[in-house]
Amino acid sequence: MGSAPGWDHMKAKVQVMKFGGTSVGDAACIARSAQIAAGAAKDSAVVVVVSAMSGVTNRLIDAARRAETGDRQAGAALLDTLRQQHEAVLAALVAAQEARQPVLRRLQEIFAEGQRLYDGTALLRELTPRTLDSISSLGERLSAPLFAGALAALGVRSEAVEATELIVTDAYHGGAEPRMDRTRERCEARLRPLLQTGIVPVVTGFIGATSEGVLTTLGRGGSDYSATILGAALGAGEIIIWTDVDGVLTADPRLVPEARTIPEISYREAAELAYFGAKVLHPKTLREVIPAGIPVWIRNSFAPERPGTVITREGRRIGGGVKALTAIRDVALISVGGPGIVGVPDVVGRTFSTTAELRASVLLISQSSSQNDICFIVSAADAQRTVEALRHEFAQDLAHQVVEHITVDPHIAIVAVVGERMHGTPGIAGQTFNALGRESINIIAIAQGSSETNISFVVEDQAMKAALLATHREFGLHSPLSD
Ligand code: ADP
Ligand code: ASP
Ligand code: MG
Repeated sequence: MGSAPGWDHMKAKVQVMKFGGTSVGDAACIARSAQIAAGAAKDSAVVVVVSAMSGVTNRLIDAARRAETGDRQAGAALLDTLRQQHEAVLAALVAAQEARQPVLRRLQEIFAEGQRLYDGTALLRELTPRTLDSISSLGERLSAPLFAGALAALGVRSEAVEATELIVTDAYHGGAEPRMDRTRERCEARLRPLLQTGIVPVVTGFIGATSEGVLTTLGRGGSDYSATILGAALGAGEIIIWTDVDGVLTADPRLVPEARTIPEISYREAAELAYFGAKVLHPKTLREVIPAGIPVWIRNSFAPERPGTVITREGRRIGGGVKALTAIRDVALISVGGPGIVGVPDVVGRTFSTTAELRASVLLISQSSSQNDICFIVSAADAQRTVEALRHEFAQDLAHQVVEHITVDPHIAIVAVVGERMHGTPGIAGQTFNALGRESINIIAIAQGSSETNISFVVEDQAMKAALLATHREFGLHSPLSD
């Protein structure tokens, strides 16, 4: 098979760039982001991944929920607003009428599809996970042609590509998993030829499709994951996630104003942060890039001159063992207990096979040694159905009062202290709890992974911010970071 000249060179230098919702939030943001991509495309092959414009996915989902109740107006009204918004952005970004026309046509097709989805939902008063995925995907499907148009207006050859053509997933709507072998084949067939001829593909984040072609989504915030799936599939040299903060910070800057940017962090540390709620990265983002060791950058599209954070296999030791803190509030503590559970065979096994069947992800587990109580934490969205499934599973035991209670407490938060090199630095747990003690913060449960990459503890949700501020100070994360 003949290769085009420069094939290997191009292949080695693929850069995948993802622009999040705020980075494509309006015409000025898209213009700035398109400049960044155009600059990179001068000396490497670039794949752009875009999110929906900020806030659009939430609004699409809200309207879908209203349509489910039979409201026939909600979808139409939203689509109208979105049409005006996207068309105004297009007009601002693409001056030439003939360049604007094909994009406009594409937007109209997507709006028509959206209208059919909302009409069907309102008519049937039923919103299946599959339909919800199709509705939530509209935002990305609208922003990709806009971004491609903005690149073309800058003189960069580009093509909007829907990820349903690229990312093959299982059929788990709302949180689908990629099938990497199939995805690799699709990317080679569809993206590689574009890259070879110097065209920048602009791919919709967040979505994929089953091998039968049914649209799926990767879960909320999933465009980060789309970028790394595509990066891994193409063997990219690097992946850059452009967002609205300077990188991965020592804590969420909205909660801890003195948080600082971390220059380099390891895959494990970043994955722990993401898993425990640091919104800057979708929890699954690093999964596919770890085997190939592809560096992932987090950078600020509003300040592209700043270096950002690089996530690498090794990371870099900075100061003491603690790198960063994170907290997660939308969670619930479920407890299965009563003195009788000592005698119930395999309570632990049955509890967690139930959560596994539901695909409810368990964030933290704590069990008293007497086995009187098993407590674990799931995301708030999973809490209700988890409790229902457990009540079903233990129905007999509850009836005979062997299991006394299955309760749920939604008013809690998990705070996690993360750092790969906490391992071998004694006293971090003690220091954490002293700091919390001084602030009179009550600790409900504690867990430490055996990897010692994190210590996580459960507090009342009202105490979460104080817990973050106290530990951030305690570990000196507010002062300039030193090696
Ligand atoms: P995007 O739309 O670009 O995907 P997100 O809103 O999903 O952006 O993620 C970026 C946000 O993550 C930041 O604005 C910040 O408020 C939040 N965040 C939470 N924890 C951290 C952290 N440790 N470092 C940086 N940002 C964080
Ligand atoms: N637009 C999607 C969401 O809001 C995906 C993303 O932004 O990463 O969840
Ligand atoms: Mg995000």
